[in-house]
Amino acid sequence: MIAKIFEAKERPHFDPLIVHLADQDQLERFVTDVPNSARTLMDRFCPGPVTFVLPKRDVIPDLVTSGLSSVAIRIPAHEQAREFIQAAGVPIAAPSANRFGCVSPTTSQHVLKGLNGRIDAVLEGGSCEVGVESTVIACPKNGQPTLLRPGGLPVEDIEAVIGPVVRLNPETQDDESPQAGPGMLTRHYAPSKPIQILDDFGELVDSSRAGVLAFGEIDESEFAVVENLSPDSSLVESAANFFAGLHRLETSDIDMIVTKWFPDEGLGVALNDRLRRAAAK
Ligand code: AMP
Ligand code: MG
Repeated sequence: MIAKIFEAKERPHFDPLIVHLADQDQLERFVTDVPNSARTLMDRFCPGPVTFVLPKRDVIPDLVTSGLSSVAIRIPAHEQAREFIQAAGVPIAAPSANRFGCVSPTTSQHVLKGLNGRIDAVLEGGSCEVGVESTVIACPKNGQPTLLRPGGLPVEDIEAVIGPVVRLNPETQDDESPQAGPGMLTRHYAPSKPIQILDDFGELVDSSRAGVLAFGEIDESEFAVVENLSPDSSLVESAANFFAGLHRLETSDIDMIVTKWFPDEGLGVALNDRLRRAAAK
């Protein structure tokens, strides 16, 4: 069953899956320890877009965790997802429903775009509300909580509850960095068209074949296609629209996608992380 996930997505086996629970009740059946930091955050933010890396029990198959002694656990906010887990009677190991390395799906149409013919069914739950993957935080038994992946729960919200967490510097990470979260590849979320991140759209010599992924007001007439994630410059709205915007741009009749960095705060941290990986060569 689990092997089929890797097969359908063509996901490498070194990239561990997140295990989804309906609630915290059975947590101790799957992990050996829930440090205070993790429990406090769960009480505050779960269900929601945050994943906890905790020491695993043997009942969790090695295939799920890529052989690691820890397991990533999340309680999803979508009621239908929790009902599905309840009905299954077991935790559900689940990644995003797309081909590995490609733009993440946020609608059932996106799922079919990448996986039609490779999966048995899609459970229709509407568009994703948050729009970016969960924040992943490691909570070791002894040691400081560490942010492994910025995501749908801003790290500022986490720090407001448990104090400073260790943040890995994305600028100094590469695929060989020992401290990098497994599966956090430099190139990921990549659209099929080249994407360029500019400081200023004025740098573009010729924008007639460029599609723009925009944030806030811009001069739309300069570009062949415009995907404005949030004309009002809302990071929450931008996160919700981000991957759908990339899906539309990669299927548009353009030669390249251009964009700018988001403000590096709140959900902008997760968006910049996705942009950095989408644009990596
Ligand atoms: P997703 O990309 O949303 O399917 O989430 C999977 C990601 O969660 C992986 O690529 C890892 O970065 C992270 N992850 C899952 N399990 C673990 C683990 N045991 N230790 C550290 N990170 C993990
Ligand atoms: Mg994914």
